[in-house]
Amino acid sequence: MSQFWSPAVQALTPYVPGEQPAERVIKLNTNENPYPPAPGVGKVLREFATDHLRLYPDPTSQALRAALAESFGVETQQVFAGNGSDEVLAFAFQAFFCHGAPLDVPTITYSFYPVYAKLYGVELRQHPLNEQWEVDLDALAEASSRSGVIFANPNAPTGHAHSLATLEALLERVTDRVVLIDEAYVDFGAESAVALTQRYPNLLVTGTFSKSRSLAGIRLGYAVGSRELIEGLERVKDSFNSYPVDSLANCVGIAALEDPAHFEACRERVITSRERTRSRLETLGFDVLPSKANFVLAQHPAFDGAQLFAGLRERGILVRHFNKAGLENFLRITIGTDDEMDSLIEALETLIR
Ligand code: PMP
Repeated sequence: MSQFWSPAVQALTPYVPGEQPAERVIKLNTNENPYPPAPGVGKVLREFATDHLRLYPDPTSQALRAALAESFGVETQQVFAGNGSDEVLAFAFQAFFCHGAPLDVPTITYSFYPVYAKLYGVELRQHPLNEQWEVDLDALAEASSRSGVIFANPNAPTGHAHSLATLEALLERVTDRVVLIDEAYVDFGAESAVALTQRYPNLLVTGTFSKSRSLAGIRLGYAVGSRELIEGLERVKDSFNSYPVDSLANCVGIAALEDPAHFEACRERVITSRERTRSRLETLGFDVLPSKANFVLAQHPAFDGAQLFAGLRERGILVRHFNKAGLENFLRITIGTDDEMDSLIEALETLIR
């Protein structure tokens, strides 16, 4: 605490990101991709130092947004780019959710939403997951006169994804406030709601290059929605930082989008490893929630989650453990390479023997 901090800053409980260790470990704690980005990205990096570094980036990320728009089949003006989807989410909180009314959110979802809510003074109305560990869309849709709805699909850290038809049913019911669907993990087997943005002007879909595009280090995220929603985000951006996406991120993002074959191969590998990991964990007696993301959430009926987390850590394997009601016994395990997953399974076998 410092006397110099504003009262609102004193009251914040900041988001705690997963550890980024200095030593070499098997890192299965922050849902990164184990494979390198598209080869074209390396070429861009080499040319970049000579051509671009002196100059400010394009403040509107026009070329990157056009490439994203083409891949989604929407207009460039329906796409917003930001410095990681975390930043896009922060802008969305400011642009759409500060109405002095509560924001509807699941109790178990991406833990940054409550942090932004506190930062921007947004009250949350939290809705428990249903018995199958799914986001309860009925509960989210039910009441009116609130500021909006936000959830991740696939959800984090459960990995469950609702179908497009179910999401559309929600949008038929909620027409008077913004529905934000965070699709950070959608490419690992879920259906994207991006196409629905053409029909529902209150739908904002966010996405990231950090997961399925193997570019967590470059910090690149985006949103797709109606022009009025994108303009709302632009108003916040241009009142905060005109250049949130640097020129390197713009070029690298385009290079990644230009290699769909690499993208497909890479996400297929992660999906295959996920299913293999799931069945091996089940053989060890773990309950594993079905996942459409690049991680699984698993618990063992006979072993404490915190102890397993610590035991893995001692063996140089980082996974994520959350001290949150309902999740205490679970481990969230990012899907790494098959070799990394073999080491994880071996370590768990030792720990539960
Ligand atoms: N949404 C969800 C559900 C996430 O798990 C993450 C990663 N922590 C993000 C958004 C943010 O990803 P990034 O800022 O790297 O785009």
